[in-house]
Amino acid sequence: MHEFLKSLLQQRQQDNLYRTRQVRSGVQAPTILINGQTYLAFCSNDYLGLASDERLKIACQLGAERYGIGSGASHLITGHTLAHQSLEQEVAIYTQRERALLFSTGYMANLGVITALLGRHDAVFSDKLNHASLIDATKLSQAKIYRYSDMQTLALRLAKSSARHKLIVTDGIFSMDGNIANLPKIIELAKTYNAWVMVDDAHGLGVVGKTGRGTLELYDCGVEDVPILMGTFGKAFGVFGAFIAGSELLIETLIQFARSYIYTTALPPALVETVRESLIIATEENWRRQRLQELITYFRKQASSLPLIESSTPIQPIILGDSTTALEVSKALYQRGIIVTAIRPPTVPNGTSRLRITLSALHNENQIDKLITSLVEVIHN
Ligand SMILES: *Cc1c(COP(=O)(O)O)cnc(C)c1O
Repeated sequence: MHEFLKSLLQQRQQDNLYRTRQVRSGVQAPTILINGQTYLAFCSNDYLGLASDERLKIACQLGAERYGIGSGASHLITGHTLAHQSLEQEVAIYTQRERALLFSTGYMANLGVITALLGRHDAVFSDKLNHASLIDATKLSQAKIYRYSDMQTLALRLAKSSARHKLIVTDGIFSMDGNIANLPKIIELAKTYNAWVMVDDAHGLGVVGKTGRGTLELYDCGVEDVPILMGTFGKAFGVFGAFIAGSELLIETLIQFARSYIYTTALPPALVETVRESLIIATEENWRRQRLQELITYFRKQASSLPLIESSTPIQPIILGDSTTALEVSKALYQRGIIVTAIRPPTVPNGTSRLRITLSALHNENQIDKLITSLVEVIHN
């Protein structure tokens, strides 16, 4: 076995695709501590800057005092606490749906819902830029998979399919590009071809829309237009965990059939209490979204000489092409005290390696200036 693993890893290294991890010692924030050094970082998903909020720490402590640490069982045994039940109700209200169901992670939520709803007689239509967890979920479901990269292809594939049930699944905001799915068109096609729609709004919830309700709010979509909504608590909400929101019937179906819900330990209740607090803060503190938008506008204005792509979200990639260049630029920035991760295949298509810059409401203009000055120096060298 080890001979095989060695050759696998050597190949990965030769392709400049080898991954390594940085050990952070303090909190997640615009400046982070690594090996005793402070770095300016532009790669967290903590868009609203809540990951180390004092109020969340207190909520976590109070939750731990009340419920202890571990949930000690799965939801269907004795792991489902009043904390879980309350958060589910609050998420249902937040998303304006009949019910919501908690999952331990977004990855598991996607696996759970898609495998519960689809089988070998069904078809799933999945955007080529969709998150890995959606791709894995579609494979595991055994449904016929059609991948699309534009609305025309989606329409053609839908028209040709004679599957029993059809599901269109898309990220609300694409995690590696920062662009927003064309939900109005997707919804129109779904109506024409009698398909179901699921949106994974991991990067949209808390961030976009007038009150931060995500991509659906941005487009003013009705609940019946997108009957399956997935969201996570590990990004804008700064904590951990995920949910599916939808109708009573959908949620009851998931409780019966979603294997990644049933066969796993329920989230630690103290974390659930933390998410409840975070949901309140994220809803009330509109200034975080406003500040984030200001910073996005500022970044795009200042970085106009760089190869930006069309994105109005906190995800602002700079496409560099081959993985070697992306890696070199990322390393050069690191030497200047700035961390922006290079994203390479297989996470993104070949030839589109990039720096994935993400902004948080807690960044400031000086920090963005420093990033852009360094980027210009490094890229034009
Ligand atoms: C992060 C992410 C997930 C996974 O969520 P986790 O809670 O981190 O497992 C799923 N979908 C998208 C689009 C994501 O960006």
